[in-house]
Amino acid sequence: MPKTIRKHIINQMKTEFRAISENERLSRAMICAMIAQLDVTVEELADVRCAISEAVTNAVVHAYRGTHSAVGSADITGDTFDASRNTVYILTTLYDDRSVKIIIRDRGCGIPDIRRAMEPLYTTDTTGERSGMGFAIMQSFMDTVKVKSAHGKGTTVELRKKFAPAGSASAAAMTEEPVTDAEDVTEEESSAGQEDIA
Ligand code: ATP
Ligand code: MG
Repeated sequence: MPKTIRKHIINQMKTEFRAISENERLSRAMICAMIAQLDVTVEELADVRCAISEAVTNAVVHAYRGTHSAVGSADITGDTFDASRNTVYILTTLYDDRSVKIIIRDRGCGIPDIRRAMEPLYTTDTTGERSGMGFAIMQSFMDTVKVKSAHGKGTTVELRKKFAPAGSASAAAMTEEPVTDAEDVTEEESSAGQEDIA
């Protein structure tokens, strides 16, 4: 049987937080700080920032609509994390081929028709605040966007992006530091396994 050749995981971060809008900026900042370890360009980081923003906002705004409110700050008591509350889960994985995978998951209402939901300008929002461009923005800034969803069980959005080699023309243009040559990356068998979030 042929061996499966996979890239190596070089870093991984699992986060879970209350589905409240304040945490959109927080999660974005944490993930971007992690991705910065790959020495990506400012433009690449901005792209990922936008995509994370849209995915997390969707989980906060749509996933738990109509349910008991996520949590107000006054509801946060004690020092244990109550995952039975409305929660957003994110798993971020960095690979040695200079790529990232970000999985954003909720346990909310689910999306009945994913294909339709991903069409530009499609929104179920009735307040006029949303434009139905979230998924389109994710697709334009990331290499791949995969969505899985089950009614009443929640939605999983997987975002992937591969960054330009460190020291490439675009990376060099963004820094005043001398740029060293990118190291060769050899694909090897991966020993890393568990990528489920919850
Ligand atoms: P915008 O992102 O421009 O503010 P929007 O959120 O309505 O508007 P999209 O992000 O493209 O647009 O999402 C399209 C639709 O898919 C949403 O209106 C909503 O019905 C549904 N949706 C998206 N994410 C989720 C989710 N995590 N849970 C449930 N429904 C979702
Ligand atoms: Mg949206």
